[in-house]
Amino acid sequence: MKFSNLKLTTPYLCHDSLFYDRVEPTPLENPFLIAYSQSAAELLGVDEDIGMDSALVSILNGEEKLEGSESFAMCYAGHQFGHYVPRLGDGRAINLGKVNGQNLQLKGSGVTLYSRLGDGRAVLRSSIREFLMSEAMHGLGIETSRALALIGSKTDVKRERMEKGAILLRLSPTWVRFGTFEYFYYANEHEKLKELADYVIAESFSQLQGSEDMYAKMYEQIVKNTATTIAKWQSVGFNHGVMNTDNMSIDGRTIDYGPFAFLDDYQKYYVCNHTDREGRYSFSSQPGIGHWNLKALAVALSPILEYERAEDILDELYGSTYESVFSEIMYAKMGLELEDEDDRGLYHWMLRAMENASIDYSMFFRELSSFNGDKSAILDRAVNREPLSAWLDAYAKRLEIESTSQQERHQKMLQINPKYVLKNFLLQEAIEKAQQDDFSMIKELLVVALSPFEEHPKLQHLYRSAPLQEKNKKLSCSS
Ligand code: AMP
Ligand code: MG
Repeated sequence: MKFSNLKLTTPYLCHDSLFYDRVEPTPLENPFLIAYSQSAAELLGVDEDIGMDSALVSILNGEEKLEGSESFAMCYAGHQFGHYVPRLGDGRAINLGKVNGQNLQLKGSGVTLYSRLGDGRAVLRSSIREFLMSEAMHGLGIETSRALALIGSKTDVKRERMEKGAILLRLSPTWVRFGTFEYFYYANEHEKLKELADYVIAESFSQLQGSEDMYAKMYEQIVKNTATTIAKWQSVGFNHGVMNTDNMSIDGRTIDYGPFAFLDDYQKYYVCNHTDREGRYSFSSQPGIGHWNLKALAVALSPILEYERAEDILDELYGSTYESVFSEIMYAKMGLELEDEDDRGLYHWMLRAMENASIDYSMFFRELSSFNGDKSAILDRAVNREPLSAWLDAYAKRLEIESTSQQERHQKMLQINPKYVLKNFLLQEAIEKAQQDDFSMIKELLVVALSPFEEHPKLQHLYRSAPLQEKNKKLSCSS
């Protein structure tokens, strides 16, 4: 199947115009293909090389349409940094329709009814970041929207300085957000709220259709999915940066990549988003914010699911799901299979030691995955050796009670501790090259993004820690 031969449907348009704005994309000037993910294309049932599809660029640029495609922007609201904003919506995203369970959406394709004062555009810099990070998140085994392809252009877009506009075609099984429910709740459109819930159940939780207590079960699933995704973020050291309720997917997957970052050196209170002055969305706040956002969703669902009931579900399922997913991953990252009463202490000591040693978070675990008693490979990567040295002694002792062989342990650890992580300094290098029309590093990063646990001998240069001045920097929200 060829990409340009896909036939789309538009189930979301079964709703009335409160749900969306019918709008056409505004093309960019002189569009050209920058990158694409064949792996994402496979989700659509496309098996022909999309890079060879002559219509790909014009479809991304809104100049050609896939059969059945009818474009629209979705309306939603949301709590931004804790404050309710009654109407947000796709201000620069335009949906094209659905195929094979994936909703196709352009990002950066011009103004919509929901653009407010914005220009509806996305700059090349942030589009490269979202393209690569979507695919990397998938490569890490974390639920996420995907990125099919990215085009650049000669269209000027004004941010802090003039930049060039780009359009990303992204895919998700749903683009409904917590904030979509909040929109109908606060607008007092409770019939529409129920209509939306029924739609979400059909689209994302079809196993619940027709069951008793359907809305409670839907909320349970949303709670579990959200807790699971956030536990996985914490395990890989991912800081999302803008966990507003409009950026929370209703099925719990990661969406809306803005000023995100992977931790460079382990820093519990790291804040990647420059505008987040109070650290609301700091790395260590993410699990708590997930809970806050689910509570906001419980309020929005209250016309169809009694609030106290939702609160009980949240209390019962959120913390327990988070803890079980997170601790299972973290002990696996440490290579500990048996349970020992001192393991919790060893784990907390490890985090403190990492923080005091100033060591790259993901490299620490990757190096730990081939630890054979010789501490130097790990200690050589730390600024301060002492705190980690003592911990490694205790760790080596703890490994003695494990029953699996060292070889087997290493093999398993290498499958859970990624070698290649798209740290911001690497993305920045790729962006600077792209701004000089050299897209080669984007292609390299895509390869490691999609298989981060494998060795890529030719791409070994992508396994490094950030230069000192680049470590744990903050990023601007402008995109
Ligand atoms: P974000 O936090 O980046 O997901 O965006 C928050 C809201 O602002 C969403 O409703 C976006 O659609 C909207 N938005 C962000 N950037 C622009 C832009 N350049 N033009 C129009 N709307 C935008
Ligand atoms: Mg958003």
